Amino acid sequence: MSRLVLTNVNLLDGDSPPVSNRTIVIDGDRIVSVGSHPQGIEEADRVVDLAGRTVMPGMATCHYHSTYPSGMHEGVAPYGYEYPPGYQALIAHRNLLTALEQGYTIVVGAGAACDVDPAIRQAIDDGFVQGPRFTPSGRELSTTGHANDLLLPWYWRLPTLGAARNCDGPEAFTLAVREEAKIGVEVIKLFVTRGHLVPGGNEVMEMTRDELAAAIDAAHSRQILIRGHITGKRAIMLAIELGIDIVDHCDEMDDEVIAALAETGTSVVPSVHYPKVVAEFTEARDPDAAAEMRRGLQFMFDALPKAEAAGVRLLLGDDYGGLRLRHGDYGDELHTYVDDVGISPLAVIKWATRHGAEVISRNDDLGTVAAGKIADLLVIDGDPSLDIGLLADKNPVAVLKGGEVVSGALPG
Ligand SMILES: [Zn+2]
Repeated sequence: MSRLVLTNVNLLDGDSPPVSNRTIVIDGDRIVSVGSHPQGIEEADRVVDLAGRTVMPGMATCHYHSTYPSGMHEGVAPYGYEYPPGYQALIAHRNLLTALEQGYTIVVGAGAACDVDPAIRQAIDDGFVQGPRFTPSGRELSTTGHANDLLLPWYWRLPTLGAARNCDGPEAFTLAVREEAKIGVEVIKLFVTRGHLVPGGNEVMEMTRDELAAAIDAAHSRQILIRGHITGKRAIMLAIELGIDIVDHCDEMDDEVIAALAETGTSVVPSVHYPKVVAEFTEARDPDAAAEMRRGLQFMFDALPKAEAAGVRLLLGDDYGGLRLRHGDYGDELHTYVDDVGISPLAVIKWATRHGAEVISRNDDLGTVAAGKIADLLVIDGDPSLDIGLLADKNPVAVLKGGEVVSGALPG
């Protein structure tokens, strides 16, 4: 098979500012060299002059609900029971394919219904369907009476929700984690607190210390990741201490929390885009509630540049498919981080690439453009480090997964 040689590249390697006039040589699924000029090009090589277009690593979206129905069937059924499981699998696969086409070659789950995620991951691995490199999630684990558990009338007496499972006591969490791991879930999602659009205050812990420790230990003993919806400082600090891998939302991320995150290397998905959208929507109906949401958001907007400066591993991802955020609008959060929060496009690109590969421990293979790495690459018209909107426009020139063009086309 001929090698692919990309010349006249503006390189955004996922780590550093752009460098123009690079040549990238790809052999099979791997990058074999990244250099200043074409060297050792062989007659059989396919040479593509990118005429100054940008090549960067594929991006990662790391808080993904594959089965969220994007407003379809809204309010008709409880979470995870909107459609039969087979239908939900079709929805999830369509969403994952959309993510790949928009340049997200890594997707990390944050909760999904009915065993759907592991099955799709298997189908992608088998080559039966196309899809991103996908870390499957499963049912979200909550305690009895948590907000997820109150979504449907108690007198229906359903044993569990379609996308949530109730656990009480450390043993129940251990069993639930092991059962999810057995079906192929690779990232467990816990509901540790309310807050961040889940009704209730940030400060109330809805899991005990022993439950949290048992869940984290069970996940790590099966060598899978564990993450938590955690908004209040006390719960965030406890989860960091007990070794959680990903804090979702992290609404009370003050200086002490930032220091603990930086020291331990714990990842954070701030996911501030969804509450921003909900606050805008709430404005007309309930200005007081909107103002309260804006105060919380402003705290995070002020904290994020400090966390970035401290070296916290911040990640992209949000509740796409939730009530007011549609799957496919993944680029919108890029604008939020750059335009509202004031993070530089280059830093957001690092969150989207290098950090995404690190959180799934694939940084030896993915996340940057360098010799020896797998060729999961985006070709973009223009330079996204100057204009993040170029990444948000949903249409990369080409998306390569393992050296193969899986969306768009290389020029010429
Ligand atoms: Zn979520």
